[in-house]
Amino acid sequence: MRLIIFGPPGVGKGTQAQILSQKLNIPHISTGDMLREAVKNQTELGLKAKSFMDKGELVPDDVMIGIIKEVLSSERCKNGFILDGFPRTIAQAEALDKIFEELNIKLDYVISLEVDDDEIIKRLTNRRVCKNCGAVFNLLIDKIPEDNKCPRCGGELYQRSDDNPEVIKNRLKVYRESTQILLEYYAKKGILKSINGVGEISDITEKIYKSIGVRS
Ligand code: AMP
Repeated sequence: MRLIIFGPPGVGKGTQAQILSQKLNIPHISTGDMLREAVKNQTELGLKAKSFMDKGELVPDDVMIGIIKEVLSSERCKNGFILDGFPRTIAQAEALDKIFEELNIKLDYVISLEVDDDEIIKRLTNRRVCKNCGAVFNLLIDKIPEDNKCPRCGGELYQRSDDNPEVIKNRLKVYRESTQILLEYYAKKGILKSINGVGEISDITEKIYKSIGVRS
C-alpha cells in the first residue's frame, strides 16, 4: 500500500505512521526524521536544512523533491510506503505525482489527521523524543522516569529544538499558508480520508484501519 499521512505538526502523524508501518510491513518515510539525522551528522543536506528547521520554515522544494525521488525509487520502497511530512507544498505534490508516474505506481490514500490548534500547542510543548529509539512521549500523559530515560529502551529523552512556543507558532502558520491547501488537492483526486485525531492512540489507529480497509 502507498500512503501519505497528512496534517499539521503535532497531530500524531509520526505515531500513527510507525504503527501502520509495522502492521502493513512497509517503511515509514519521515522527511523530518531524515533531515534531523542529516543535521546530526552534519552532512551537506543537514547544513543546508538546519537554518530553515530552526525557524520552523520549509526547506526549499527542490532539495526535498530530490530526497523523496531518491527514496521512493529505492529497493526498500518497492512494496509500498507511508510518507510522513511530504508533500508540504503544491509544488511538492505535483512533483510527487510525476515521480509516481515515472515509477508506474499509484497512491492509494491520503490520511488526514485533524486536531485543533490549542491541543497541538499543548502536545508539542510537552513532547519528548528518545534519542535512541525515536519513541515519542507526552509529559502530560506518559509516565516519564525522573532520570529522563526512555521507558522503552532506556535511551535519553530530549525536546526537539523546534518544539518551543515561538517556532511552534511559525510552523502552524506555515502549515496554514502553504500545506493545508493540499487537502483540496487530494480531495479532488478522491483519495482523502479525514480522521479526528483526538483520543486514545489505539482508537485513532482503528479509525484509520477502517477508512483504508485494513482489518485490525
Ligand atoms: P517534521 O518533523 O515533519 O515536523 O519536520 C521538521 C522540519 O523539517 C519542518 O519544520 C521543516 O523545516 C522540515 N521539513 C520536513 N519535511 C519537509 C518538507 N516536505 N518540505 C519542507 N520542509 C520540510
